Amino acid sequence: MIILGPPGSGKGTRAQLIGKIFGIPVITTGDMLRESVAKGTHRGKIAKGYMERGELVPDDIVIGVVEERLKRSDIEGGFILDGFPRNLRQAQALDRILNEKGEELDYVLNVTAKPSTIINRLSLRRSCPRCGAVYHLKDKPPKNDEICDECGTKLIQRSDDKEEVIRHRLQVYEAETRPLLEMYGNLGKVREISGELSIDDIPEAIKRALA
Ligand code: AMP
Repeated sequence: MIILGPPGSGKGTRAQLIGKIFGIPVITTGDMLRESVAKGTHRGKIAKGYMERGELVPDDIVIGVVEERLKRSDIEGGFILDGFPRNLRQAQALDRILNEKGEELDYVLNVTAKPSTIINRLSLRRSCPRCGAVYHLKDKPPKNDEICDECGTKLIQRSDDKEEVIRHRLQVYEAETRPLLEMYGNLGKVREISGELSIDDIPEAIKRALA
């Protein structure tokens, strides 16, 4: 499965729930790239500037990351890709990788949300730089002021969640990623899921969308 949607649509939260419901790994390219940046790997050094500006990291780098991840055996019972593909070239690469494995996509879940929801979510989002847990200061606050419930680390605002970068990321989404919906729509694979639901209603909505 692929999950698509603008930044801040609630795509990551839904992907994690789907992973739990179906017992399959969630492959999140944003997290994998952030980890490479934090570790200072060769890929991370190249990716850093693009990510800070809210631009797409070059295709070869991201495709390499995904291709390596999809070689692991834990994906054999299925998997969900969160944040990939983000443009046509990546979608073609995914097709090639899946073809080589004799697999094909089952579903493309499209998460929809209003612009006001997106801005609210991203500007109040806080993340744990250590374990990756994600919070929302109003809707899903940590128990202790800006400290991660899971590992006790001080939460941060992602540098690309600042308002001017958010705007740029949304433009990139419209120009590069949204066109994929038409392509996958023509293949009959797209299922819609709302990005506006409260967290308790999401599992039911996922089951309905995939019924
Ligand atoms: P996300 O956490 O999905 O919002 O991704 C954060 C940033 O990582 C994006 O703004 C891009 O700079 C980079 N990124 C994540 N996934 C991809 C991808 N598939 N292609 C290119 N850049 C990506």
